[in-house]
Amino acid sequence: MRSLKPFLCLSKHWALLRWLSKPRTCSNAARTPASSGERRKDVSDRFRSQIASGPRFQDFIKGVSVTLPADGEDTEEPGYLSEDLGMVGDSRKVYFETYGCGAPGCMAERLKTELLEREKLVDVLAGPDAYRDLPRLLTVADGGQQASNVLLSLEETYADIMPVQHAAQGHSAFVSIMRGCDNMCSYCIVPFTRGRERSRPISSILEEVQMLSDQGVKEVTLLGQNVNSYRDTSEEQFYSSELTKLSRGFNTIYQTKQGGLRFSDLLDQVSRVDPDMRIRFTSPHPKDFPDEVLHLIAERQNICKQIHLPAQSGSNQVLKAMRRGYTREVYLDLVYNIKRIIPGVSLSSDFISGFCGETEDDHQQTLTLIREVGYNVGFLFAYSMRKKTNAFHRLQDDVAPQVKQRRLEECISVFRAEAERVNSAAIGSMQLVLVEGESKRSADDLCGRTDGNMKVIFPKEDVAIQASSSNTVPVCAGDYVLVKILSASSQSLRGRALTHSSLRRQP
Ligand code: SF4
Repeated sequence: MRSLKPFLCLSKHWALLRWLSKPRTCSNAARTPASSGERRKDVSDRFRSQIASGPRFQDFIKGVSVTLPADGEDTEEPGYLSEDLGMVGDSRKVYFETYGCGAPGCMAERLKTELLEREKLVDVLAGPDAYRDLPRLLTVADGGQQASNVLLSLEETYADIMPVQHAAQGHSAFVSIMRGCDNMCSYCIVPFTRGRERSRPISSILEEVQMLSDQGVKEVTLLGQNVNSYRDTSEEQFYSSELTKLSRGFNTIYQTKQGGLRFSDLLDQVSRVDPDMRIRFTSPHPKDFPDEVLHLIAERQNICKQIHLPAQSGSNQVLKAMRRGYTREVYLDLVYNIKRIIPGVSLSSDFISGFCGETEDDHQQTLTLIREVGYNVGFLFAYSMRKKTNAFHRLQDDVAPQVKQRRLEECISVFRAEAERVNSAAIGSMQLVLVEGESKRSADDLCGRTDGNMKVIFPKEDVAIQASSSNTVPVCAGDYVLVKILSASSQSLRGRALTHSSLRRQP
């Protein structure tokens, strides 16, 4: 880091880059030239080429045309940086290589001592609420000292920072709408690494979604640790005495919240920005699905009929130990309510096998819940205890690793069988598919996603411009096409594209 002079000249309107690059792997390192000089040159060449093809300073500035200063010219000092930091950009660029939630991010908060002091792996450590402090941290590191800020904030939402799309096929985008979580499930580290819930003002979210629509993005996923707990209290007019409505029968460990624009208000407004843009959201909590949210999903053509409903366990005893705020019966009531209001909805879920105190009977109850609901997709894990959590302080991680693993495999096997059964019901149907691009397995095929977020593979061939037309054109990434489903597995669907279409034109 020290050899790369930091990017220092920032405007008040600076925007963060959404530019994901793949982490380098050990196998890559094994193919690099043998001598250290050659290795350094190789790294330097790669770095130069990535810098040359990367975004320019202007790409970070929202709505401002910027001319970089010539040597010796004064530069505008950003208001939040002190002058004595000597922060000038000198046309230098910075290269970001992302490693998921390593540092910077919530792992930085959790592993501060290990990363900074014991392993001496990094020069700069920034927690998830400290990104605005990066210029100062980089300057400190440039002066030869380690720099760190892992403080959590009660307010930070990065609302004024517009990500810059920099993907070759940017037809899908993620929009962060809230941060943090107030639920304190006993196994979870998120409330300690991401802090309390705070929501981004609706006006800033709508502005970003509009910008994405103008750029041709066809699918937006609203993001948050507890996305449907969204509550915008940024304007006085949003205050009211109205209590937050929960899904029937669900409880929270915190007092019922009051006032603010809620998730249904946000979904309503976001889905009006561009009727041809799909709206998804993740990750929700089952407690925040009052009927008004479900009716809105059912009514609005561009809100995908796909709901992630993390269950974690099918046993009341385990759900209580996890402090999830619901019972198996209440969760199943919600599932039936969702299926009644949104016919054909796709459901996915998370499950943890082998949580503290889980018995064979508890595990069997999880298997029966998976069978009863019929999910399309599942994210299943063996329990791994995290420091700082309530479970770490109060419960025993008493299920043997091999038992956890066996239970996990049984859950996966039931999940697969159920997903195949659920997906098979789509055979013979017509699905509106948003095309993502070429299939990874064959250059002769394309792949895309249904409204329910199932992957669909179909032959790459020209199809009719619209249903009644004999004119055919190629299918490209970002197109909507109607695909007739011909076969299904637990993971994907196969079919044949019949015609180009759109969300507004779909039958
Ligand atoms: S599991 Fe989800 S709801 Fe529970 S504390 Fe973690 S982030 Fe919050």
